Amino acid sequence: MFHIYCPWCQEHREEEEFHAKGPAHLARPKNPENCSDEEWGDYLFFRDNPRGVHHELWVHAVGCRKFFNITRNTVTYEILETYKIGEQPAKRAQADVVSLPLRQDAANESVKIKLGGAS
Ligand SMILES: [Zn+2]
Repeated sequence: MFHIYCPWCQEHREEEEFHAKGPAHLARPKNPENCSDEEWGDYLFFRDNPRGVHHELWVHAVGCRKFFNITRNTVTYEILETYKIGEQPAKRAQADVVSLPLRQDAANESVKIKLGGAS
């Protein structure tokens, strides 16, 4: 078990009180009515799967119930910082690209995924 610092409560609490809610700093399309179905689907459903340092949205679900961001290394589980919504991170996510294999029925192809892109 490890402890996470809640920037709203200003204290470390047990990890079981928190839930991860996906990547932080997702840019909502400026004009959703003008998006194609593919663009809107990408925004709603598709996420990077970064390896390394990136920013995540978390909620202190069994505490103050407020949302905040964490800069975390997905390889080591190290939490580099936590910060409130609306604040900018002091640490930057790594911009990295890896190739992931596709399902077997999509033989011999791979997908390039941009990692850790904080926006
Ligand atoms: Zn809290």
